Amino acid sequence: MLYYVFTVDGDWHQYFDVSLPEEERIPNEECMREFIEAEVTLGQRLLAGKFIHFIHASPRAREFFLKEPFIEFWHKIINNAGDIGIHCHEDDPSRNYYFRDIERMRKVILEQVNRLKEAGLPASAYRGGYLTFCKELIPVLEEANIRFDFSCEPGRYLVLGGEVVSDWRGAPDSLYRMSYSDQRRPGNSSVFEVPIGAAQGGYLYFEKYNKDMLGKAAESLEKKARSRNKDIIVSVLTHSYDYDCKKNIKDIEEKTALLKKHGRFINLKEVLKILGEGR
Ligand SMILES: [Zn+2]
Repeated sequence: MLYYVFTVDGDWHQYFDVSLPEEERIPNEECMREFIEAEVTLGQRLLAGKFIHFIHASPRAREFFLKEPFIEFWHKIINNAGDIGIHCHEDDPSRNYYFRDIERMRKVILEQVNRLKEAGLPASAYRGGYLTFCKELIPVLEEANIRFDFSCEPGRYLVLGGEVVSDWRGAPDSLYRMSYSDQRRPGNSSVFEVPIGAAQGGYLYFEKYNKDMLGKAAESLEKKARSRNKDIIVSVLTHSYDYDCKKNIKDIEEKTALLKKHGRFINLKEVLKILGEGR
């Protein structure tokens, strides 16, 4: 059986636009509220609430999403059978990437997780900005009690400004327990990697792939699960800025409907149950 975990990274376009003045690159409360509201409404309607919102945390928005009106949305997502994760953009896009500075990352991750916990919100998942990750982050996620990482796009090899920021070459195409010695290999850490669905040259990444490519990728993953006689568990990637207008929301609806023909959307509780670790 093919299972998907639907995810939304809480980013906005201007964050990435280095041509804008600094004051325009911080999030706009009204816009973000509209995006996230649309996301929650659609998630409820299409996915029975089963999706993960990854809360953006970066030097430009350290506290922004840890306050109202957003805290209320995070509660709503969890109460609706969804999950909350943290999306650490420890970077200055196109200039600096700090994800290998483990002391810095540890501080940021634990701070975010603890702040959410104080608000009664358990953070269950992690995704690095730009899908950055390194093996040294595995013990940090364990310390933060995060069992799921979503930073893997199998085969991804991203070089920005001469620096390798994301290397997922050779990673498995379905959920695996990460190895302490290499995040791209199965091993015995407590952190499960849920890779973005990848097959037939396409990824289950709504912004980048059209319906045709997404359909082919999902169909191929479904066939693989059948021929291996083993469940395949992957993630589906969208961003908050995708929920900005009716046309784009319709596109998400159609793509989600297409994926449903080949597999089932589940939340993290159900993932643990499938893994035999459900409580
Ligand atoms: Zn991001």
